[in-house]
Amino acid sequence: MKQIGFDEKEIYESAKNSCVICNSCRYCEGFCAVFPAMEKRRSFEWKDIDYLANLCHQCGECFYACQYAPPHEFNVNIPSQFSDIRAMSYQKFAYPRWIGKVFEKNGFFVSIVLLACIFAVFFMAFLSHRADFPLGDYEGDFYRIVPYHLMVWTFGIVGVFVFCALGAGFVRFFSHIQKKEEITSSSICQAFFDAFSLKYLGGHNNDGCTYPKDERSSLRKIFHHFTFYGFLSCFVATSLGAFYEHFLNLHAPYAFLSLPKLFGTFGGISLCIGTLGLFILKLIADARLKSLKTMGMDYAFIFSLFIVSLSGLILMIFRESQGMAFLILFHLSTVLALFIMMPYGKFIHGFYRLGALIKYNLEIKKP
Ligand code: SF4
Ligand code: SF4
Repeated sequence: MKQIGFDEKEIYESAKNSCVICNSCRYCEGFCAVFPAMEKRRSFEWKDIDYLANLCHQCGECFYACQYAPPHEFNVNIPSQFSDIRAMSYQKFAYPRWIGKVFEKNGFFVSIVLLACIFAVFFMAFLSHRADFPLGDYEGDFYRIVPYHLMVWTFGIVGVFVFCALGAGFVRFFSHIQKKEEITSSSICQAFFDAFSLKYLGGHNNDGCTYPKDERSSLRKIFHHFTFYGFLSCFVATSLGAFYEHFLNLHAPYAFLSLPKLFGTFGGISLCIGTLGLFILKLIADARLKSLKTMGMDYAFIFSLFIVSLSGLILMIFRESQGMAFLILFHLSTVLALFIMMPYGKFIHGFYRLGALIKYNLEIKKP
């Protein structure tokens, strides 16, 4: 089967060869979780490569340390080879798979088209719905543009679909890599701790990753923290808004010092900083570490997160302005487009990585 414009068999076989060479060499033993996990194996099946690829976070340290890296004929390039495998896994375990295939090529272009289509539908719908749209005086009230129930139904239906697709993708991936060991609660807790603390992004001895170039830096970890906790904070803000509306009978707009606003503002600023930083690091990263054929979807996801957070902040600032109707429709379109692409690109890697960490914490305790 051919995926993303290159030969699946060839890329798995070259990754397997590299892993066999690493197991003889063992120079990078303490660099990250990948090498102790490799050393648990004498031979490698494709599912082992899927597991190892999702343990790797492409810091590049093993590439710069490797005497067998290109131009050596052994061509050991773990970050790039595993990056190709990870990108293939986004489509291989996607649910439903046909949507994954839509994003398979030209992920960035497809995302832009998706956003434009959603915005056009919203725009036409509200143009026909409100005679004064889009320049009426809405007094900062979003629900005069998009009725509350319409918002709840639209995002509720898409949210349930995304939740199921993410869950199904995770189950497919995890049951593919994990056949033998019985899962324990301690392995799950440790995996969550490792994932939430971004433990392995600290690099060797926690003194920084060799990313974007061959110099140690903590920037990638810092920007990941901004992105991760910014996203969580926005999620908390949205949940609190729903709680206020349903259970406290308090309606938006909320005061600046209210909890939904504080979480939303912090989350939006944090996401903007994190995604912009990651975007720049990705742009300037050493080309030898990247899987160039898969960059589209990576850029699309980071860019979408950035646009969601930026448009949310702009909407908050210009809420009382005449352009508010445009801003709310644009912001909602970006959020909906982001939701739809979540199970088919970079976002799902967070789930696969969690699955790989659970397996790692199970395996590593065995003699
Ligand atoms: S990446 Fe290179 S140096 Fe590191 S263990 Fe593998 S073969 Fe050895
Ligand atoms: S690129 Fe970094 S995370 Fe990936 S295997 Fe090499 S050292 Fe480990």
